[in-house]
Amino acid sequence: MVIHDVHVAPVVGQEIESGYIRIEGDRIVAVAAGPAPDVPGAVRIDGSGCLATPGLVNTHHHLYQWASQGLAQDATLFEWLVALYPVWAAMDADVVKGAAGAGLSWLALSGCTTSSDHHYVFPKGRGDLLAAEIEAAHEVGIRFHPARGSMDRGKSSGGLPPDEVIEELDDILAATAEAIDAYHDPSFSSMVRVVVAPCSPFSASGELMTQAAALARAKGVRLHTHVAETLDEDEHCLAQFGLRPVDYMDKLGWLGPDVWFAHAVHLSDSDIGKLAATGTGTAHCPSSNGRLGAGIARVSEMLRRGANVGLGVDGSASSELTSLAGEMRQALLFQRARYGPKALPARRALEIATLGGARNLGRENELGSLEPGKLADIALWRIDGPFTSAVADPVCALVFGPPPPLARLLVGGRSVVEDGELKTVSQDTAGRAGAEASRRLTRLARERGVGVV
Ligand SMILES: [Zn+2]
Repeated sequence: MVIHDVHVAPVVGQEIESGYIRIEGDRIVAVAAGPAPDVPGAVRIDGSGCLATPGLVNTHHHLYQWASQGLAQDATLFEWLVALYPVWAAMDADVVKGAAGAGLSWLALSGCTTSSDHHYVFPKGRGDLLAAEIEAAHEVGIRFHPARGSMDRGKSSGGLPPDEVIEELDDILAATAEAIDAYHDPSFSSMVRVVVAPCSPFSASGELMTQAAALARAKGVRLHTHVAETLDEDEHCLAQFGLRPVDYMDKLGWLGPDVWFAHAVHLSDSDIGKLAATGTGTAHCPSSNGRLGAGIARVSEMLRRGANVGLGVDGSASSELTSLAGEMRQALLFQRARYGPKALPARRALEIATLGGARNLGRENELGSLEPGKLADIALWRIDGPFTSAVADPVCALVFGPPPPLARLLVGGRSVVEDGELKTVSQDTAGRAGAEASRRLTRLARERGVGVV
């Protein structure tokens, strides 16, 4: 396959105003300036009027939340969680399947080729929720890093969630090990990699965090959790553990190059130093942080000090229809509002959305830039439309504005989106299944006597 006459923003290496990308199998074999060579039998994609970037990498999500959007609209994180835990307790595998299919389709349509998902509510007797979302990802055709989440610290042990949504420590570890054995594929071209992910300091015990880390390291998989999202969490950690969140994670053995944290909004200078020194990554989720009034993460300072930052849309219950491409703009605007116009340039925003995300997932050798040898995960953005073509710099058109139309999305050279339409699943059916999942969850919650507002 050859994409020709295209503007290439490879993220690593020189930007090319007019050039080509040659793909063999699922890999990129050449990225160069000038006219494309004649390759007998190759599929040729006309990239004129388009910007090619690496596929975007989403490093924080809760796909099931597609089914609980628009609730607790004016709540803080803790108020929002307390309102939603009982609703989530009613979910089943059908809800997760419909929600994940819609959420992943939405991501693909916004240029995302790899997504993680942090699923941490597993009500008993509700079917195999992890299998449901892995199946959805397989159908949509993007790479998937499901993080087997967990909560074992309910209200009766000083945690935030009600006891009905927590699991026993031994059950969590057994189910997590089982998920890794069943689904984790460490290969270069892997479509599924499992992550170990107790939910947060205020819903997972120190014992769970420590044992989960030992399990992940024994199995060679990565670790993920929420850290320092709001000031309420700071207070909770200080009161219960005598430490702020990052210091608490340090004590539990949860800093390292195999760990990335969601949010990391409220960091001290010393926290940033620890993240940078240990190679611990973060997933910046600006729309969700804005929606919940959590604050603005110190992204540009983290980047300056060498800490890795990727992007995440976060669950749709706290960011509704946020698109991953839109998060580049949101990140750029937040940083500039806080630190001034030089805080985050457009190309740096694109870099965190691609290579930064790949680093969070431990896949910087395979994903995140357009270079020979890497997987052919490529987004082609149409920037010659009647409105977008008024901006001469295509990367500016992509990052500063609302995302331009997606001409093509390739995952390992396979077309997942063409001219703004999903090719792998019916877009209409996926969207409707997401809406049906929402109605189903509302009905299941009401059957349990839970008000949904
Ligand atoms: Zn989250």
